[in-house]
Amino acid sequence: MEQVDIVIAGAGVAGLTAAAAFGTAGFSVLLADPGPAPTSNVNAPRDMRTTAFLQPAQALLDRAGVWPLIASDAAPLRVMRIVDAARTPSVSADFVSDEISDRPFGWNFPNTLLRDKLLARIAALPHVTVLFGTSYRSHLAQDAQVQVTLSDRSVRARLLIGADGRQSAVRQAAGIGLHRSSFAQKAVVFAVTHSIPHDNVSIEVHRSGGPFTLVPLPDLDGQPCSSVVWMDRGPQAEALMALDDAAFIAAAQDRSADVLGTLNLASRRQLWPIIAQRATALTADRVALMAEAAHVLPPIGAQGLNMSLADLAVLLDLAVAAPAGLGGARMLQTYARRRAPEVALRMAGVAALNHASIAGLHGIGALRAQGLRAIHGPRVIRHGLMRLGLGAR
Ligand SMILES: Cc1cc2nc3c(=O)[nH]c(=O)nc-3n(C[C@H](O)[C@H](O)[C@H](O)COP(=O)(O)OP(=O)(O)OC[C@H]3O[C@@H](n4cnc5c(N)ncnc54)[C@H](O)[C@@H]3O)c2cc1C
Repeated sequence: MEQVDIVIAGAGVAGLTAAAAFGTAGFSVLLADPGPAPTSNVNAPRDMRTTAFLQPAQALLDRAGVWPLIASDAAPLRVMRIVDAARTPSVSADFVSDEISDRPFGWNFPNTLLRDKLLARIAALPHVTVLFGTSYRSHLAQDAQVQVTLSDRSVRARLLIGADGRQSAVRQAAGIGLHRSSFAQKAVVFAVTHSIPHDNVSIEVHRSGGPFTLVPLPDLDGQPCSSVVWMDRGPQAEALMALDDAAFIAAAQDRSADVLGTLNLASRRQLWPIIAQRATALTADRVALMAEAAHVLPPIGAQGLNMSLADLAVLLDLAVAAPAGLGGARMLQTYARRRAPEVALRMAGVAALNHASIAGLHGIGALRAQGLRAIHGPRVIRHGLMRLGLGAR
Protein backbone atom coordinates (compact mmCIF):
# COMPACT_ATOMS: atom_id res chain seq x y z
CA MET A 1 0.00 0.00 0.00
CA GLU A 2 1.19 3.49 -0.86
CA GLN A 3 2.68 5.40 2.08
CA VAL A 4 2.99 9.19 2.45
CA ASP A 5 3.48 11.57 5.36
CA ILE A 6 0.20 13.44 4.87
CA VAL A 7 -3.06 12.82 3.04
CA ILE A 8 -5.07 16.00 2.43
CA ALA A 9 -8.75 15.68 1.50
CA GLY A 10 -9.91 18.69 -0.52
CA ALA A 11 -8.11 20.72 -3.20
CA GLY A 12 -9.83 24.06 -2.61
CA VAL A 13 -7.55 27.04 -2.06
CA ALA A 14 -6.91 25.85 1.51
CA GLY A 15 -6.01 22.25 0.62
CA LEU A 16 -3.83 23.35 -2.30
CA THR A 17 -1.97 25.81 -0.10
CA ALA A 18 -1.48 23.12 2.53
CA ALA A 19 -0.07 20.74 -0.09
CA ALA A 20 2.32 23.42 -1.39
CA ALA A 21 3.42 24.39 2.13
CA PHE A 22 4.00 20.85 3.44
CA GLY A 23 5.62 19.82 0.15
CA THR A 24 7.97 22.81 0.30
CA ALA A 25 8.86 21.84 3.89
CA GLY A 26 9.93 18.40 2.62
CA PHE A 27 6.93 16.24 3.58
CA SER A 28 5.40 13.79 1.12
CA VAL A 29 1.79 14.66 0.43
CA LEU A 30 -1.14 13.12 -1.40
CA LEU A 31 -4.00 15.51 -2.13
CA ALA A 32 -7.36 14.13 -3.29
CA ASP A 33 -10.42 15.97 -4.61
CA PRO A 34 -13.50 14.58 -6.37
CA GLY A 35 -13.71 17.59 -8.69
CA PRO A 36 -12.38 17.48 -12.22
CA ALA A 37 -8.87 18.76 -12.94
CA PRO A 38 -8.98 22.52 -13.58
CA THR A 39 -9.67 23.24 -17.19
CA SER A 40 -8.68 26.02 -19.50
CA ASN A 41 -12.14 25.81 -21.12
CA VAL A 42 -13.40 29.38 -20.84
CA ASN A 43 -17.01 28.17 -20.90
CA ALA A 44 -16.57 26.02 -17.78
CA PRO A 45 -18.23 27.46 -14.65
CA ARG A 46 -15.66 29.55 -12.79
CA ASP A 47 -15.47 30.61 -9.19
CA MET A 48 -16.29 34.36 -9.29
CA ARG A 49 -14.97 34.99 -5.79
CA THR A 50 -11.81 36.86 -5.05
CA THR A 51 -9.85 36.43 -1.87
CA ALA A 52 -8.15 39.12 0.12
CA PHE A 53 -5.06 37.78 1.83
CA LEU A 54 -4.07 39.66 4.94
CA GLN A 55 -0.43 40.06 5.91
CA PRO A 56 0.12 36.83 7.91
CA ALA A 57 -1.35 34.80 5.05
CA GLN A 58 1.11 36.42 2.67
CA ALA A 59 3.99 35.22 4.84
CA LEU A 60 2.66 31.68 4.62
CA LEU A 61 2.25 31.86 0.83
CA ASP A 62 5.84 33.04 0.63
CA ARG A 63 6.96 30.10 2.75
CA ALA A 64 5.06 27.77 0.42
CA GLY A 65 6.88 29.18 -2.62
CA VAL A 66 3.62 30.56 -4.03
CA TRP A 67 3.98 34.28 -3.42
CA PRO A 68 6.65 34.84 -6.12
CA LEU A 69 4.22 33.33 -8.65
CA ILE A 70 1.31 35.61 -7.78
CA ALA A 71 2.93 38.84 -6.54
CA SER A 72 2.68 40.60 -9.91
CA ASP A 73 -1.11 39.97 -10.01
CA ALA A 74 -1.73 41.21 -6.48
CA ALA A 75 -4.01 44.22 -5.96
CA PRO A 76 -2.79 45.76 -2.67
CA LEU A 77 -5.37 46.86 -0.07
CA ARG A 78 -4.03 50.00 1.60
CA VAL A 79 -7.25 51.58 2.76
CA MET A 80 -10.49 50.05 4.00
CA ARG A 81 -13.41 52.45 3.84
CA ILE A 82 -16.68 51.90 5.67
CA VAL A 83 -19.60 53.92 4.32
CA ASP A 84 -22.76 54.24 6.37
CA ALA A 85 -25.39 54.84 3.69
CA ALA A 86 -28.23 54.42 6.20
CA ARG A 87 -27.62 58.06 7.14
CA THR A 88 -28.36 61.04 4.97
CA PRO A 89 -25.89 62.27 3.95
CA SER A 90 -23.80 59.11 4.19
CA VAL A 91 -20.73 59.07 6.42
CA SER A 92 -17.51 57.19 5.94
CA ALA A 93 -14.49 56.17 7.98
CA ASP A 94 -11.12 55.18 6.52
CA PHE A 95 -8.65 52.69 7.93
CA VAL A 96 -5.22 53.26 6.49
CA SER A 97 -2.70 50.46 6.65
CA ASP A 98 0.13 52.95 7.25
CA GLU A 99 -1.34 53.49 10.74
CA ILE A 100 -0.34 50.04 11.80
CA SER A 101 2.37 48.96 9.38
CA ASP A 102 4.43 50.10 6.42
CA ARG A 103 2.80 47.38 4.30
CA PRO A 104 -0.75 47.02 2.90
CA PHE A 105 -3.50 45.33 4.97
CA GLY A 106 -3.46 42.66 2.36
CA TRP A 107 -3.69 41.77 -1.30
CA ASN A 108 -6.63 40.70 -3.40
CA PHE A 109 -6.67 37.90 -6.01
CA PRO A 110 -9.24 36.18 -8.18
CA ASN A 111 -9.71 32.64 -6.80
CA THR A 112 -9.18 31.07 -10.22
CA LEU A 113 -5.75 32.70 -10.54
CA LEU A 114 -4.76 31.47 -7.10
CA ARG A 115 -5.81 27.98 -7.93
CA ASP A 116 -3.82 27.94 -11.18
CA LYS A 117 -0.68 29.25 -9.51
CA LEU A 118 -0.98 26.89 -6.57
CA LEU A 119 -1.20 23.98 -9.00
CA ALA A 120 1.85 25.30 -10.86
CA ARG A 121 3.79 25.41 -7.60
CA ILE A 122 2.67 21.91 -6.62
CA ALA A 123 3.70 20.54 -10.03
CA ALA A 124 7.26 21.61 -9.20
CA LEU A 125 7.29 19.63 -5.91
CA PRO A 126 8.41 16.03 -6.49
CA HIS A 127 6.85 14.58 -3.32
CA VAL A 128 3.37 16.05 -3.80
CA THR A 129 0.73 14.16 -5.78
CA VAL A 130 -2.66 15.64 -6.67
CA LEU A 131 -5.50 13.29 -7.60
CA PHE A 132 -8.54 14.93 -9.14
CA GLY A 133 -11.67 12.84 -9.62
CA THR A 134 -10.77 11.05 -6.38
CA SER A 135 -12.65 11.46 -3.13
CA TYR A 136 -11.91 10.66 0.47
CA ARG A 137 -14.20 7.84 1.66
CA SER A 138 -13.11 6.73 5.15
CA HIS A 139 -10.15 6.25 7.43
CA LEU A 140 -8.93 4.01 10.18
CA ALA A 141 -6.61 5.55 12.76
CA GLN A 142 -4.04 3.23 14.24
CA ASP A 143 -1.25 3.89 16.72
CA ALA A 144 1.40 5.40 14.50
CA GLN A 145 -0.53 5.88 11.29
CA VAL A 146 -3.85 6.28 9.59
CA GLN A 147 -5.15 4.18 6.74
CA VAL A 148 -7.11 6.35 4.35
CA THR A 149 -9.56 4.89 1.85
CA LEU A 150 -10.02 6.99 -1.26
CA SER A 151 -12.45 6.23 -4.06
CA ASP A 152 -9.75 4.49 -6.12
CA ARG A 153 -7.06 3.36 -3.66
CA SER A 154 -5.96 3.06 -0.05
CA VAL A 155 -3.03 5.02 1.36
CA ARG A 156 -1.14 4.95 4.65
CA ALA A 157 -0.14 8.27 6.21
CA ARG A 158 0.82 9.73 9.57
CA LEU A 159 -1.63 12.61 9.33
CA LEU A 160 -4.96 13.08 7.56
CA ILE A 161 -5.92 16.71 7.01
CA GLY A 162 -9.60 17.42 6.34
CA ALA A 163 -9.65 20.49 4.05
CA ASP A 164 -12.75 19.18 2.30
CA GLY A 165 -14.99 22.18 2.81
CA ARG A 166 -18.18 22.92 4.71
CA GLN A 167 -19.75 19.47 4.21
CA SER A 168 -16.47 17.78 5.25
CA ALA A 169 -16.69 14.01 4.92
CA VAL A 170 -13.53 13.72 7.06
CA ARG A 171 -15.23 15.60 9.88
CA GLN A 172 -18.30 13.40 9.69
CA ALA A 173 -16.26 10.19 9.56
CA ALA A 174 -14.28 11.35 12.59
CA GLY A 175 -17.56 11.77 14.49
CA ILE A 176 -17.05 15.52 14.99
CA GLY A 177 -20.22 17.61 15.24
CA LEU A 178 -21.04 21.21 14.32
CA HIS A 179 -22.17 24.42 15.99
CA ARG A 180 -24.16 26.10 13.25
CA SER A 181 -26.10 29.32 12.80
CA SER A 182 -27.80 30.75 9.76
CA PHE A 183 -28.14 34.45 9.07
CA ALA A 184 -30.99 34.04 6.60
CA GLN A 185 -28.79 35.95 4.16
CA LYS A 186 -27.24 35.21 0.82
CA ALA A 187 -24.39 36.90 -1.06
CA VAL A 188 -24.54 37.90 -4.71
CA VAL A 189 -20.98 37.90 -6.04
CA PHE A 190 -19.98 39.59 -9.29
CA ALA A 191 -17.42 41.95 -10.87
CA VAL A 192 -17.94 45.50 -12.09
CA THR A 193 -15.98 48.10 -13.99
CA HIS A 194 -16.51 51.66 -12.75
CA SER A 195 -15.92 55.26 -13.77
CA ILE A 196 -14.02 56.32 -10.62
CA PRO A 197 -10.69 54.53 -9.95
CA HIS A 198 -10.66 52.47 -6.74
CA ASP A 199 -7.13 53.61 -5.77
CA ASN A 200 -6.76 50.25 -4.05
CA VAL A 201 -9.39 51.16 -1.49
CA SER A 202 -11.70 48.38 -0.34
CA ILE A 203 -15.15 49.85 0.39
CA GLU A 204 -17.99 48.42 2.48
CA VAL A 205 -21.29 50.25 2.02
CA HIS A 206 -23.85 49.63 4.78
CA ARG A 207 -27.53 50.37 4.66
CA SER A 208 -29.55 47.36 5.76
CA GLY A 209 -29.75 43.68 4.92
CA GLY A 210 -25.97 43.25 4.94
CA PRO A 211 -22.84 44.93 3.59
CA PHE A 212 -22.17 45.74 -0.07
CA THR A 213 -18.42 45.31 -0.42
CA LEU A 214 -16.30 46.52 -3.34
CA VAL A 215 -12.85 44.95 -3.46
CA PRO A 216 -10.18 46.33 -5.84
CA LEU A 217 -9.11 44.20 -8.79
CA PRO A 218 -6.57 44.93 -11.53
CA ASP A 219 -7.97 46.97 -14.46
CA LEU A 220 -10.09 45.11 -16.99
CA ASP A 221 -9.60 46.22 -20.61
CA GLY A 222 -8.25 49.54 -19.36
CA GLN A 223 -11.22 50.15 -17.02
CA PRO A 224 -10.99 50.28 -13.21
CA CYS A 225 -12.47 47.03 -11.91
CA SER A 226 -13.69 45.66 -8.56
CA SER A 227 -15.30 42.52 -7.31
CA VAL A 228 -18.52 42.91 -5.33
CA VAL A 229 -19.94 40.83 -2.51
CA TRP A 230 -23.52 42.01 -1.94
CA MET A 231 -25.05 40.43 1.12
CA ASP A 232 -28.77 40.70 1.65
CA ARG A 233 -31.68 38.83 3.19
CA GLY A 234 -32.24 35.55 1.31
CA PRO A 235 -35.41 36.45 -0.65
CA GLN A 236 -34.01 39.85 -1.62
CA ALA A 237 -30.76 38.25 -2.85
CA GLU A 238 -32.73 35.71 -4.87
CA ALA A 239 -34.82 38.50 -6.37
CA LEU A 240 -31.61 40.25 -7.40
CA MET A 241 -30.42 37.09 -9.14
CA ALA A 242 -33.70 36.95 -11.08
CA LEU A 243 -33.32 40.47 -12.51
CA ASP A 244 -32.02 40.92 -16.04
CA ASP A 245 -28.56 42.49 -16.33
CA ALA A 246 -29.82 46.05 -16.89
CA ALA A 247 -32.19 45.99 -13.91
CA PHE A 248 -29.58 44.30 -11.76
CA ILE A 249 -26.83 46.83 -12.44
CA ALA A 250 -29.32 49.66 -11.79
CA ALA A 251 -30.07 48.13 -8.39
CA ALA A 252 -26.35 47.70 -7.70
CA GLN A 253 -25.73 51.31 -8.71
CA ASP A 254 -28.29 52.50 -6.18
CA ARG A 255 -26.98 50.20 -3.44
CA SER A 256 -23.37 51.33 -4.04
CA ALA A 257 -24.33 54.90 -3.05
CA ASP A 258 -22.31 55.87 -6.19
CA VAL A 259 -19.05 55.51 -4.29
CA LEU A 260 -17.20 54.42 -7.47
CA GLY A 261 -19.27 56.36 -9.99
CA THR A 262 -21.08 54.54 -12.79
CA LEU A 263 -20.97 50.74 -12.54
CA ASN A 264 -20.98 48.28 -15.44
CA LEU A 265 -21.47 44.56 -14.98
CA ALA A 266 -18.27 42.68 -15.89
CA SER A 267 -19.11 39.08 -14.99
CA ARG A 268 -21.85 36.58 -14.34
CA ARG A 269 -23.53 36.65 -10.91
CA GLN A 270 -23.21 33.87 -8.36
CA LEU A 271 -25.28 33.28 -5.23
CA TRP A 272 -23.70 32.07 -1.97
CA PRO A 273 -25.57 31.14 1.21
CA ILE A 274 -24.32 32.90 4.32
CA ILE A 275 -23.78 30.65 7.27
CA ALA A 276 -21.55 30.42 10.30
CA GLN A 277 -20.49 27.01 11.48
CA ARG A 278 -17.72 25.63 13.64
CA ALA A 279 -16.62 22.05 14.19
CA THR A 280 -17.08 20.98 17.81
CA ALA A 281 -13.46 19.74 17.74
CA LEU A 282 -10.52 20.48 15.45
CA THR A 283 -8.91 17.07 15.77
CA ALA A 284 -9.51 13.35 16.16
CA ASP A 285 -6.96 10.51 16.23
CA ARG A 286 -4.42 11.22 13.44
CA VAL A 287 -6.86 13.77 11.94
CA ALA A 288 -6.72 17.58 11.81
CA LEU A 289 -9.53 19.69 10.37
CA MET A 290 -8.69 23.02 8.77
CA ALA A 291 -10.31 25.80 6.75
CA GLU A 292 -14.04 25.51 5.98
CA ALA A 293 -14.09 21.92 7.21
CA ALA A 294 -13.39 23.49 10.61
CA HIS A 295 -15.06 26.91 10.38
CA VAL A 296 -17.27 28.85 7.97
CA LEU A 297 -17.88 32.58 8.36
CA PRO A 298 -19.92 35.23 6.60
CA PRO A 299 -17.61 36.94 4.07
CA ILE A 300 -16.90 40.01 6.17
CA GLY A 301 -13.53 41.52 6.96
CA ALA A 302 -11.68 39.00 4.75
CA GLN A 303 -11.51 36.54 7.61
CA GLY A 304 -12.44 33.22 5.98
CA LEU A 305 -9.41 31.98 4.16
CA ASN A 306 -7.10 33.99 6.36
CA MET A 307 -8.28 32.01 9.36
CA SER A 308 -7.79 28.88 7.29
CA LEU A 309 -4.22 29.78 6.52
CA ALA A 310 -3.67 30.57 10.20
CA ASP A 311 -4.73 26.95 10.89
CA LEU A 312 -2.21 25.81 8.33
CA ALA A 313 0.59 27.97 9.75
CA VAL A 314 0.17 26.32 13.16
CA LEU A 315 0.06 22.80 11.70
CA LEU A 316 3.12 23.52 9.60
CA ASP A 317 5.12 25.01 12.49
CA LEU A 318 4.35 22.01 14.69
CA ALA A 319 5.24 19.53 11.95
CA VAL A 320 8.51 21.27 11.09
CA ALA A 321 9.49 21.66 14.76
CA ALA A 322 9.01 17.93 15.48
CA PRO A 323 8.71 15.95 12.23
CA ALA A 324 8.82 12.63 14.11
CA GLY A 325 5.66 13.64 15.96
CA LEU A 326 3.67 14.35 12.79
CA GLY A 327 0.03 13.45 13.38
CA GLY A 328 0.68 12.30 16.94
CA ALA A 329 -1.47 13.16 19.96
CA ARG A 330 0.89 15.84 21.18
CA MET A 331 0.94 17.71 17.88
CA LEU A 332 -2.82 17.54 17.51
CA GLN A 333 -3.53 18.62 21.08
CA THR A 334 -1.25 21.63 20.64
CA TYR A 335 -2.94 22.50 17.35
CA ALA A 336 -6.38 22.43 18.95
CA ARG A 337 -5.21 24.40 21.97
CA ARG A 338 -3.68 27.13 19.83
CA ARG A 339 -6.46 27.44 17.29
CA ALA A 340 -9.79 26.72 18.97
CA PRO A 341 -10.03 29.87 21.17
CA GLU A 342 -8.90 32.13 18.32
CA VAL A 343 -11.43 30.61 15.93
CA ALA A 344 -14.26 31.02 18.44
CA LEU A 345 -13.28 34.63 19.11
CA ARG A 346 -13.09 35.70 15.49
CA MET A 347 -16.32 33.96 14.65
CA ALA A 348 -18.10 35.80 17.43
CA GLY A 349 -16.63 39.11 16.23
CA VAL A 350 -17.71 38.57 12.63
CA ALA A 351 -21.18 37.41 13.70
CA ALA A 352 -21.59 40.58 15.79
CA LEU A 353 -20.60 42.75 12.83
CA ASN A 354 -22.95 40.90 10.54
CA HIS A 355 -25.92 41.17 12.91
CA ALA A 356 -25.24 44.88 13.25
CA SER A 357 -25.11 45.28 9.49
CA ILE A 358 -28.31 43.29 8.91
CA ALA A 359 -30.12 45.55 11.32
CA GLY A 360 -28.85 48.57 9.41
CA LEU A 361 -28.80 50.66 12.54
CA HIS A 362 -27.86 54.27 12.34
CA GLY A 363 -24.34 54.74 13.56
CA ILE A 364 -23.41 51.35 12.27
CA GLY A 365 -20.41 52.89 10.57
CA ALA A 366 -18.83 53.70 13.90
CA LEU A 367 -19.74 50.32 15.35
CA ARG A 368 -18.32 48.51 12.35
CA ALA A 369 -15.31 50.75 12.37
CA GLN A 370 -14.54 49.54 15.86
CA GLY A 371 -15.24 45.99 14.82
CA LEU A 372 -12.87 46.20 11.90
CA ARG A 373 -10.17 47.50 14.14
CA ALA A 374 -10.94 44.60 16.42
CA ILE A 375 -10.24 42.23 13.59
CA HIS A 376 -7.38 43.94 11.81
CA GLY A 377 -5.94 46.20 14.43
CA PRO A 378 -3.25 45.67 16.99
CA ARG A 379 -3.85 43.23 19.81
CA VAL A 380 -4.29 45.89 22.43
CA ILE A 381 -7.23 47.46 20.59
CA ARG A 382 -8.70 44.07 19.89
CA HIS A 383 -8.56 43.12 23.54
CA GLY A 384 -10.10 46.40 24.58
CA LEU A 385 -13.03 45.82 22.30
CA MET A 386 -13.44 42.28 23.45
CA ARG A 387 -13.78 43.58 26.98
CA LEU A 388 -16.49 45.89 25.70
CA GLY A 389 -18.24 42.80 24.43
CA LEU A 390 -17.93 43.68 20.76
CA GLY A 391 -15.43 41.07 19.66
CA ALA A 392 -16.69 38.24 21.81
CA ARG A 393 -16.44 37.84 25.55
C1 LIG B 1 -18.74 35.40 -1.35
C2 LIG B 1 -17.52 35.00 -0.59
C3 LIG B 1 -16.42 35.86 -0.51
C4 LIG B 1 -15.30 35.52 0.24
N1 LIG B 1 -14.24 36.41 0.35
C5 LIG B 1 -13.15 36.09 1.12
C6 LIG B 1 -12.03 36.99 1.29
O1 LIG B 1 -11.97 38.08 0.73
N2 LIG B 1 -10.99 36.59 2.09
C7 LIG B 1 -11.00 35.39 2.71
O2 LIG B 1 -10.05 35.07 3.44
N3 LIG B 1 -12.03 34.51 2.56
C8 LIG B 1 -13.11 34.83 1.78
N4 LIG B 1 -14.15 33.96 1.64
C9 LIG B 1 -14.01 32.65 2.23
C10 LIG B 1 -13.14 31.78 1.35
O3 LIG B 1 -13.56 31.84 0.00
C11 LIG B 1 -13.24 30.36 1.84
O4 LIG B 1 -12.75 30.34 3.16
C12 LIG B 1 -12.40 29.42 1.03
O5 LIG B 1 -12.64 29.50 -0.34
C13 LIG B 1 -12.74 28.02 1.46
O6 LIG B 1 -11.71 27.26 1.08
P1 LIG B 1 -11.70 25.72 1.45
O7 LIG B 1 -10.52 25.21 0.66
O8 LIG B 1 -11.76 25.47 2.89
O9 LIG B 1 -13.09 25.12 0.88
P2 LIG B 1 -13.60 24.85 -0.58
O10 LIG B 1 -13.14 25.89 -1.53
O11 LIG B 1 -15.05 24.57 -0.47
O12 LIG B 1 -12.84 23.52 -0.99
C14 LIG B 1 -13.19 22.25 -0.47
C15 LIG B 1 -12.76 21.20 -1.47
O13 LIG B 1 -13.02 19.92 -0.89
C16 LIG B 1 -13.45 19.08 -1.91
N5 LIG B 1 -14.16 17.91 -1.34
C17 LIG B 1 -15.46 17.81 -0.99
N6 LIG B 1 -15.73 16.55 -0.57
C18 LIG B 1 -14.56 15.87 -0.63
C19 LIG B 1 -14.19 14.52 -0.33
N7 LIG B 1 -15.07 13.62 0.12
N8 LIG B 1 -12.90 14.15 -0.53
C20 LIG B 1 -11.98 15.05 -0.98
N9 LIG B 1 -12.29 16.33 -1.28
C21 LIG B 1 -13.56 16.73 -1.11
C22 LIG B 1 -14.31 19.94 -2.80
O14 LIG B 1 -14.41 19.37 -4.11
C23 LIG B 1 -13.56 21.25 -2.78
O15 LIG B 1 -12.65 21.36 -3.86
C24 LIG B 1 -15.27 34.28 0.90
C25 LIG B 1 -16.36 33.40 0.82
C26 LIG B 1 -17.49 33.75 0.09
C27 LIG B 1 -18.67 32.81 0.03
